[in-house]
Amino acid sequence: MHFSVMILGAGSAKPVANKYPSAQLLTYDNECFLIDCGEGTQYRLLEHKIRPGRLRGVFISHLHGDHYFGLIGLLSSLNLGGRTEEFFLVGPRGLDEIITMHFKYSQTPLHFPIIYTITDTESSYQVFENQNFTVTTIPLDHRIPCAGYLFREKPQKRKLIKEKLFDDMPHEYLRKLKNGEDVVDEAGNVLFKCLEFTTPAPPPRSYAYCSDTRYNESIIEIIQGVNLLYHEATFRDELEQQAFERYHATAKQAGIIAAKSHVKKLLIGHFSSRYKEFSGFLEDAQSVFKATEIAEEGKVFAIEHS
Ligand SMILES: [Zn+2]
Ligand SMILES: [Zn+2]
Repeated sequence: MHFSVMILGAGSAKPVANKYPSAQLLTYDNECFLIDCGEGTQYRLLEHKIRPGRLRGVFISHLHGDHYFGLIGLLSSLNLGGRTEEFFLVGPRGLDEIITMHFKYSQTPLHFPIIYTITDTESSYQVFENQNFTVTTIPLDHRIPCAGYLFREKPQKRKLIKEKLFDDMPHEYLRKLKNGEDVVDEAGNVLFKCLEFTTPAPPPRSYAYCSDTRYNESIIEIIQGVNLLYHEATFRDELEQQAFERYHATAKQAGIIAAKSHVKKLLIGHFSSRYKEFSGFLEDAQSVFKATEIAEEGKVFAIEHS
């Protein structure tokens, strides 16, 4: 199954030409979700030829504008586009009120239901589930209530060893083998042993999105061993004190969190607008965690078994 994240925006609060505020597109198989929805996110989707109507929902980390100012525009466009399908919206308290107020004063009735899940941002708990994955909150340490999200694939079925199968094996037999069961006849004799005809399923993949936050060791347990971690890195190392005061992290701190959590790969972004060049962020993070990349806008990162 395809499992990836596309960076639509990885800027921070202050606008910078040709940089975009936080938004990511998470794709699993054919389903698409947004994680944060900064100003202009719907235009980024169109630029990348992604039909906004494909979206199943949005996960908002917190109510600073650089993480959700694109939401009203997106919802308006979905409405104009004739959407009737339900839309999942997960975010902190107040988000439902903000949306209701906007559409009330623009006298715009929405023609599709919004299924709200309000996060309390204080504890880690499951906020979403479908047939493919679960989503759990990651409480973060920011100036206002803020939660990251952990997307964890559900356990997969065992894989059939094609060369060993017989042409006329009934579908029911294959289903049982994939589910880890032996095929037995009415007398209880084993006809096909699961272990002979299948290999174990690959371990479930996971993606953790952490924005915005101070250096916060309490998340380590939650994100332990994820395949891909996005962690904000607003400042470089020399501004560690400023990062603390502003409830943000440095690139090196993002690297330390990645190392301590034994994640497989780290993405960093949300760089302060004071920086014009980003290679230093990469050096800072890589000094403690080698497998780091910059969350470059437009890039797609596959979440891979590792
Ligand atoms: Zn931000
Ligand atoms: Zn913020």
